[in-house]
Amino acid sequence: MPMFVDTSPPGQCIFCRLVAGEIPASTVYEDDQTIAFLDIGQVNPGHVLVAIKRHAATLFDLTPDEAAAAMRTAQRVAHAIRDTFDPPGLSLFQANGVEGNQTVFHFHIHVLPRHGDDGIELSWPRKDPPRATLEDYAARLRTTLGTAPAA
Ligand SMILES: [Zn+2]
Repeated sequence: MPMFVDTSPPGQCIFCRLVAGEIPASTVYEDDQTIAFLDIGQVNPGHVLVAIKRHAATLFDLTPDEAAAAMRTAQRVAHAIRDTFDPPGLSLFQANGVEGNQTVFHFHIHVLPRHGDDGIELSWPRKDPPRATLEDYAARLRTTLGTAPAA
């Protein structure tokens, strides 16, 4: 993961400054709520970041409408990446918190074209708990969500 970490306050972070036009960006799309621009790191050609224009640090700070707008823009950009660069795969990455590998604390989604030999690695250490544990986790989440268990 990148070593750069920006924890600037609202209005001063690198993406707020980019939205304000204070620093250069290779912008590819913009609407009322979102902006999409090339990641300067370009892990693969056509690697785009979709950010919310308002300073919201994480997924938890977005309004539901902003969350929907971010995904609409990510899908639109994904289509453009596919049509332009024709990668065999494409991943969305969205990180929250230091432990979640977030480096810029202004909400964004990586729209990342993928290739079989691109060197990106994601460790996925399955735990495969027993069924009863899954049901316990689900019951706890249903309680939080206020949803009833399946009949
Ligand atoms: Zn910001």
